[in-house]
Amino acid sequence: MVGAACAYYAARSGLTVTVVDRGPVAGGTTGAGEGNLLVSDKEPGPELDLALLSTGLWRTLAEDLPQHTEYEPKGGLVVASTGPGLDALRDFAAAQATAGVTAREIPADRLHDLEPHLAPGLPGGVHYPQDAQVQPALAAAHLLRASRAEVRTGEEVTAVLTGPGGEVRGVRTPSGTLHAPCVVNAAGTWGGELARLAGAYLPVLPRRGFVLVTEPLPRVVRHKVYAADYVADVASASAALQTSAVVEGTPAGPVLIGASRERVGFDRTLSVEVLRRLAAQATALFPVLARVRALRTYAGFRPYMPDHLPAIGADPRVPGLLHACGHEGAGIGLAPATGLIIARLLTGGEPPLDVTPFRPGRFAAA
Ligand SMILES: Cc1cc2nc3c(=O)[nH]c(=O)nc-3n(C[C@H](O)[C@H](O)[C@H](O)COP(=O)(O)OP(=O)(O)OC[C@H]3O[C@@H](n4cnc5c(N)ncnc54)[C@H](O)[C@@H]3O)c2cc1C
Repeated sequence: MVGAACAYYAARSGLTVTVVDRGPVAGGTTGAGEGNLLVSDKEPGPELDLALLSTGLWRTLAEDLPQHTEYEPKGGLVVASTGPGLDALRDFAAAQATAGVTAREIPADRLHDLEPHLAPGLPGGVHYPQDAQVQPALAAAHLLRASRAEVRTGEEVTAVLTGPGGEVRGVRTPSGTLHAPCVVNAAGTWGGELARLAGAYLPVLPRRGFVLVTEPLPRVVRHKVYAADYVADVASASAALQTSAVVEGTPAGPVLIGASRERVGFDRTLSVEVLRRLAAQATALFPVLARVRALRTYAGFRPYMPDHLPAIGADPRVPGLLHACGHEGAGIGLAPATGLIIARLLTGGEPPLDVTPFRPGRFAAA
């Protein structure tokens, strides 16, 4: 997704772009995520600024892309499970409002106007109309097609070519060499490995997540709905398993149920414990789901960074190398803003926002 967005905005800026991926389109984490475009789960700061910019860009993309990406500006609903939880959510939303987020408190007796199948007895929530959703694999494919970039799938970058001054000269793949004055590292969770090929350092680590997919249903879940404790899970630096209920319908019918987070390397082993927790939390929020069958489950590896911010921008150590990776659980949402920033940097333009917090050189080499 991030590479597709970089290609799209760079090509629209007049650059000649080649996209190289060792897998198919969306064969990385993009094909294993959910596609929420969220501002609701971000505290005021650089990531929220990036998300707000992206939200507007996604709206424009949804109109500009010639094909359907299942873009739905359906809004998010965050629900508290206790009175103190609602107080904390209210404070969080008030702080976000000062940063440009639209948030509306929903009292207990109005929750069912938004979500008729929500469990009874919840103390209230906050509605975020700016939250939206896309189908990530479709969105990445259509962005790539719209970019008109040359797309080389099934080709692994095995080396980054450099000149006598250490500057980038292109990449090597098993098919040969590809010369270019600039290389953008959009390798997601594998961004640290690609950086290493160029002699640079980025601490990108995998943070595993499972998604449960139900059988197709009529629209029982209208918004992206999640429990207030999800926000704390997202911000946590713990490697241990965390789960909180995140439930959403899709235009195709299946309901997607998340979200788990754990740092266990690239271990793909199915975890029944995680799935059991996800199912229990989702049915506590939407009791109607208890009678629904889960069709399948899948797992992916979010590109985790120790400070929860992506690396976007030029590498200070390798002239011509730019990074656009490490977006953790928000790479679909943050892709357009990332792509626009990269395109501006590649063409010597002014980035659309302050990129200092995302500078790739902020990590000291191990
Ligand atoms: C369970 C789960 C739920 C999620 N839900 C959401 C959500 O709702 N909203 C959201 O915004 N985000 C979500 N995410 C996170 C989101 O999926 C990621 O942040 C995003 O997909 C990252 O995109 P990317 O393009 O950086 O990485 P990827 O999609 O992984 O792309 C990187 C590409 O680089 C390629 N590559 C790597 N090394 C090489 C090499 N040496 N040579 C050539 N190619 C190479 C890979 O093949 C891959 O295709 C979720 C993630 C998970 C796991």
